[in-house]
Amino acid sequence: MSFESLGLLPELLRAVREQGYEHPTPIQVQAIPLVLEGRDLMGRAQTGTGKTAGFTLPMLQLLAPHASSSASPARHPIRALILTPTRELAMQVEESVRTYGKYIPLRTTTIFGGVNINPQTKALRAGVEIVVATPGRLLDHQQQGNLNFSQLEILVLDEADRMLDMGFIRDIQKILALLPAKRQTLLFSATFTDEIKQLASKFLRTPATVQITPQNTAAELVRQVVHPVDRERKRALLSHLITSRKLQQVLVFTRTKHGANRLSEQLDKDGISSLAIHGNKSQPQRIKALEDFKKGAVRVLVATDIAARGLDIDTLPHVVNYELPQVPEDYIHRIGRTGRAGSEGEALSLVCVDEHGLLKDIEKLLRKPLTKDVIQGYAPDPSIPAEPIQTGRQGGGRGRGPARGPRPASSSAPRGERGRHPSRPGARGK
Ligand code: AMP
Repeated sequence: MSFESLGLLPELLRAVREQGYEHPTPIQVQAIPLVLEGRDLMGRAQTGTGKTAGFTLPMLQLLAPHASSSASPARHPIRALILTPTRELAMQVEESVRTYGKYIPLRTTTIFGGVNINPQTKALRAGVEIVVATPGRLLDHQQQGNLNFSQLEILVLDEADRMLDMGFIRDIQKILALLPAKRQTLLFSATFTDEIKQLASKFLRTPATVQITPQNTAAELVRQVVHPVDRERKRALLSHLITSRKLQQVLVFTRTKHGANRLSEQLDKDGISSLAIHGNKSQPQRIKALEDFKKGAVRVLVATDIAARGLDIDTLPHVVNYELPQVPEDYIHRIGRTGRAGSEGEALSLVCVDEHGLLKDIEKLLRKPLTKDVIQGYAPDPSIPAEPIQTGRQGGGRGRGPARGPRPASSSAPRGERGRHPSRPGARGK
């Protein structure tokens, strides 16, 4: 299957060629023709499947101004809105819109919290056809009268499951109420939970469904290994693995912001350059950290799940789960950072006795056991008992939930950076 046979405009094919993509990914093969037909769509696909191009390419084609168009070029009403759960994802999606839309004269901008609102207001007032936004800040702009959706044609809900997890449902409902009923709606989600299905049945019109089966996801390209180790020896093992195997560009996941900071400091002490990114870092700090990591100036990026959402780092070779995530689906999201669209990657998990329940849940989700490899000198001491897992909610200033036991959490349980409530001031659009 070629991109040409999907019926895309020459301008888009040119941009795709420049990216070096040879063939459309399975989600692109399925989604592009349906979107071009004007259908509403429910896409079940994770990061790493090429889903962004899957909706961006046909969206750009539908919005591309016709030579005969009578609309004044001076007017740039909002014609497409892409909602994402995090600012990082908003930035990545906008980058994709710019990349693929390089030869199509449409304006685009990002709207997210945590940064000065004024440049965003200016961009909106100047006129943009495509807005990529997180829900909270978008509503702030709405309140300030900066938005007019009367000409909106396409709405995309990207990573809808994550938006619901983050408590954005009411914001999403408010935003949907502002949009014309006659529009095309595309919803992408890694999982189709009952909540997602409910959202879809309310806001999508007889949607087509496209699903990428697990065999097609990045997860299959990733070599996944578990290194059993004692809780207190994880840091030493991580440094050992990085140094002895000369690993470069390692994305390391921790469960908590505090844990990310501490680990990053310790790695630095071991002579391994690293930076931490998490929800407490300012937007410029996060952008800088990501840039330094991408260009190889720092060897290790330590991240929490939320901070890492939507990071688009091509050919990222190694992901390390320093701590397993509380929710098994997050494991898939994490390892989706590596082994992307064709390139192989490696995901290492340092697992201590506290996390055996979490590991079982992950293996259940993957429908296969993961390879266990005890590194010489780091074999776990079987006499060490399991302890409750710290989720970062205790004593961290925001502490609310109880300490989590060694048994796994269910997906409805609170997590490290979760539970932002849309009605809480300052909690939006982060
Ligand atoms: P996404 O799932 O949208 O986050 O995309 C994952 C990665 O795959 C991004 O780095 C894209 O640049 C890349 N990608 C998207 N489509 C293709 C394709 N057809 N061939 C190769 N790489 C692609």
